[in-house]
Amino acid sequence: MRDVPVEPPAYVYDLDEVGRSHAMLTAALPRPSRLYYSLKANPHPAVVRALAERGCWAEVCSPGELAAAVHAGVAPSRILYTGPGKRDAEVADAVTAGVRWFSVDSPQGIAQVEKAAAAAGADVECLLRVNDDTPVTGQSLTMTGVSSQFGADAGWVAARPAEFTGPIAGFHLYMGSNLTEEDDLVTQFATAIGTARRLADILAVPVRVLDLGGGFGAPFARAGGLPRFPGLAGRVASSLDDAFPRWRHGDPVIAFESGRYLVGTCGSLVTRVADTKQSHGRPVVVLESGINHLGGMSGLRRLPPIVPDIEAGGARTPGAIVAGPLCTTLDTWARSADVPAVRPGDIVRVPNVGAYGLTASLLAFLGHPAPSEVVVSGGRIADVSRLAVVRRPVTERT
Ligand SMILES: *Cc1c(COP(=O)(O)O)cnc(C)c1O
Repeated sequence: MRDVPVEPPAYVYDLDEVGRSHAMLTAALPRPSRLYYSLKANPHPAVVRALAERGCWAEVCSPGELAAAVHAGVAPSRILYTGPGKRDAEVADAVTAGVRWFSVDSPQGIAQVEKAAAAAGADVECLLRVNDDTPVTGQSLTMTGVSSQFGADAGWVAARPAEFTGPIAGFHLYMGSNLTEEDDLVTQFATAIGTARRLADILAVPVRVLDLGGGFGAPFARAGGLPRFPGLAGRVASSLDDAFPRWRHGDPVIAFESGRYLVGTCGSLVTRVADTKQSHGRPVVVLESGINHLGGMSGLRRLPPIVPDIEAGGARTPGAIVAGPLCTTLDTWARSADVPAVRPGDIVRVPNVGAYGLTASLLAFLGHPAPSEVVVSGGRIADVSRLAVVRRPVTERT
């Protein structure tokens, strides 16, 4: 992939690597199970299509992600629509588009989906998203066991089951993100399975689908490979055997979700050095890419600051400030990084940014062009495109 000629700045996505990651993850999951690709990680149509062709279902949480999944060839019947604050119009549009499975986060969420389904004369099913009572250790983003907009507290569901009526056909537990230790994943899934069993009995609903979430870790903007989980399938299967003895017959269907594990390692950002200098005794490297291309959520301090690996040949310079081109001090990837000794015009590469790269960045901020996105398949460039932020008059509901 490194040899492909590309005009930087550019994201390069290698679909062969997507295939390898998908094979590794499916081999690590209990069988039979369903795997949803979470489009949030990277909604590029070629990436979504590559995963759909390999049998992934799609987890979407916005009109744009729904459109991307459908455009990439995912059948609406294989789409799960999630999110803690859906607008009535987007739920109605999703039902019209043929989506039949929704993850709901509260009694209001159930009522919203029921109403849209009734208006369309469609049968829909809800997975009740549950915020479990205990936090799971080891995760970088905690979404369970703490106050959160995600899901209904397990304690609430258990105490007032009458509030949770409607087309509930299973549960959705997404407990954390970026877990790299098999033991942490096993603990989280065992906890989720136990909670689902308990709530199914209390609510007396049929569990047709049990979505255990994911949280499979992957390196981000750092060199390295995917973690392996050799014992995961067997250990999760034995938890399932205890709680849902018919799961091997698809009763319930066991589902998992992944974004970063499936696509994190497929992408790199290739960019150019704009300037280099010394400032008060420190080397400074200014790149043509900043938080508008990569790491915007970190720039906002919504995620820990990224310390990307900047790869290029040659000797290394320690203690460098690595900045982007934006006119704000926030546009700093690293304040003290070990970088190659580069000069203006040199090309550098940030590895493992196939997930939460471009669309998780501040693309519109300061109005620079987006990097191009280059899709590579079988060692060949298959597609080159560029996202644009365009102002249009509002003429209808879009
Ligand atoms: C973000 C998200 C995912 C994907 O998380 P990764 O860490 O990228 O695997 C899966 N499920 C839900 C509900 C999410 O919100």
